[in-house]
Amino acid sequence: MADAAKRAWLTIDDAPTEDFRQRVDELNARGIRAVWFCLGERLERYPEEAVHAVRNGHILGNHSYDHPAFSKLSLEEAREQIARTERLLDGIYARAGVPRPVKLFRFPYLDDGGDIKRDELQSLLCGMGFEQPGFPGVTYPWWKQEGRPERIDVGCTYDTWDWRLQEGGEMLPELLARMDEHAPEQGKGLNDAPGSNEVIMMHAWIPMDAFRLLLDRLQAKPLRFDPPVHLTVQIRPAAISDLPIVHPFQCDYLHRESAEDWKRRLADVPGMYLAAFADEDLAGVCYGQPSRRREDAADLQGIAVNLDHRKPYARRGIGSRLLRAFERVCAERGFRRIGVGSADDPRVESFYQANGYRPVELVAKDAEGRELERVDIRAEAAEQAAERKEELRRKHGAAEVIFIFEKTLD
Ligand SMILES: [Zn+2]
Repeated sequence: MADAAKRAWLTIDDAPTEDFRQRVDELNARGIRAVWFCLGERLERYPEEAVHAVRNGHILGNHSYDHPAFSKLSLEEAREQIARTERLLDGIYARAGVPRPVKLFRFPYLDDGGDIKRDELQSLLCGMGFEQPGFPGVTYPWWKQEGRPERIDVGCTYDTWDWRLQEGGEMLPELLARMDEHAPEQGKGLNDAPGSNEVIMMHAWIPMDAFRLLLDRLQAKPLRFDPPVHLTVQIRPAAISDLPIVHPFQCDYLHRESAEDWKRRLADVPGMYLAAFADEDLAGVCYGQPSRRREDAADLQGIAVNLDHRKPYARRGIGSRLLRAFERVCAERGFRRIGVGSADDPRVESFYQANGYRPVELVAKDAEGRELERVDIRAEAAEQAAERKEELRRKHGAAEVIFIFEKTLD
């Protein structure tokens, strides 16, 4: 390995396999820890092998249940493919006795749904708690142009093309020679050190000897294989001693109030003000109180995440995690549902919907925030509700028309 090595992360798809244990041990002997993107149907067949990988420092990610092309699935089918595999992965980690460090997802065939479905699939992944692991130092311009840093699913900077070995072992010399090429703008930059860091993609089912030869060649490159990065995100109830950081954050992002009022808020409903810390940095807050209108409900009053995109935890699903933590707190306190007034902003609305909230009312407000009219929309379909919203806006010349969302806790 050359001195001017750059960082590389190894990602391997379509795991586990019958000889998975052998592959994991092979990597461990080389000092490499990988992210293995697993198929649910294979986790059902080789659970012990998957447990072995987790216990040996590897990370298992979600690669769907049986490898469909996501652009051909409905949103419900997509959700089921992912959720079914999630349940299996959680089971594997539980059996291994290892806390799951991060939830990662890669689309089969890297098919992200195309222009038509890309956004809704990203929202789905976000709502299900997946995170972009964050690959610091990946500097390829095309990586940014593809919007990779903002996306939740995991891509790659170097595709080994090892899937071509399906066509026979005679492809191997070509794959090895391809690694020596220098065309960073086409995703062939392995020799360009220091240069951009790399996310390398291989497959778990290629013949064992090819697996070893590809690894030999990769390790001859100026690459330093790092374990996958993940942040330590801690969500806990805010304490009075958090005032110097949490109170200004709330005033910046949500409603302004005096320090005295903020302390009273914490004291009145202990435990219902949550703060997320990412490696000691305040990454977001979420708070609420029992509903004044209904005994069995809690109101979510504020949720915000740090929007600084330079932060390593930007776009890492912290908002969804805060929301789930808040839901747990509410359920523990015996609340059956959570209500929240959205902002008059499609992104905020889709955040709540992706997290399982459904619109129940529309509220038109004037510039002073006074309520002009409130309409029940429980019975209405999504398009109708959107029409009603614009109708209300026109009718009152309203400054804003917001959805009230609700989620029933199970
Ligand atoms: Zn695959």
